[in-house]
Amino acid sequence: MSGSPADVKLVGNAMANATRRKIMAMLIENNRNKEEIEKAVGASMLDYHIQMLQQAGLIEQKESTLVLTDFGKNFTETRAEKPVEVKKNLTGTKPIDIVEIRQLLPCIADKTKFRIIARMEPSLGGALKLLEPLFPRARYSEKINALIIQKGNVLLTIYSTGNVTMTMIKNQEEATQILEDIRRAVNDAIVKGITPVPREKVKVDHNEIYEYLPKTNCQICGEQSCYSFAIKLVSRDTELAKCTPLLDAKYSTNLEHLQAIMEYL
Ligand code: SF4
Repeated sequence: MSGSPADVKLVGNAMANATRRKIMAMLIENNRNKEEIEKAVGASMLDYHIQMLQQAGLIEQKESTLVLTDFGKNFTETRAEKPVEVKKNLTGTKPIDIVEIRQLLPCIADKTKFRIIARMEPSLGGALKLLEPLFPRARYSEKINALIIQKGNVLLTIYSTGNVTMTMIKNQEEATQILEDIRRAVNDAIVKGITPVPREKVKVDHNEIYEYLPKTNCQICGEQSCYSFAIKLVSRDTELAKCTPLLDAKYSTNLEHLQAIMEYL
């Protein structure tokens, strides 16, 4: 890598994703074949993640083994994260605060609603998975190390790093109220223990998925149109990774939302 702005951007994009950081952390420990990595991070988008890391010059394939390049080794000495280790209980977990609501942007699917990026501190790290039973429509994603919570039309994703994204928000007051409800529920659980609530099924609508696809009908995924791809995704007859245009940085928010929705299928 030359260190040019374009190279720096490639590395930044590659390391902006939790799954790719997890792959990097695995390769710091040892060279791995694809099957080993798939077991740890799942098959979804795996080829894409590997391709992103290769394009950034961080990893390379030697026969059937993935290894860090020299550039990747240097980079990870100071930058890579270790995979999140799930805790066994909430002992030692500190109460959280909502410290920041950073952006209020129009939602991709409905421009009358907003997308919020917030931050909770301290980050919940490996305790996050334990909190899934607190919310009827919550799913913990090992792939992105995040707790995804659906509340009405709002989809909220809490990452183990403390970052939070929310979509389909009416206004800042609604965002603040939802975040405050989550904060109170989590802090109560830290003090009193986790009381599981009944699980509720979340129906994923292909129209919602369609709204977040690139809508170019390029057919790279093998389908006639983005709409047919959305229908096949819901019926699990295809996988998100086949829509490689989503890898473009301009679709990073779409991809983030789609990855969260897919946890409910
Ligand atoms: S590859 Fe993606 S953008 Fe292209 S048709 Fe399929 S779903 Fe649409």
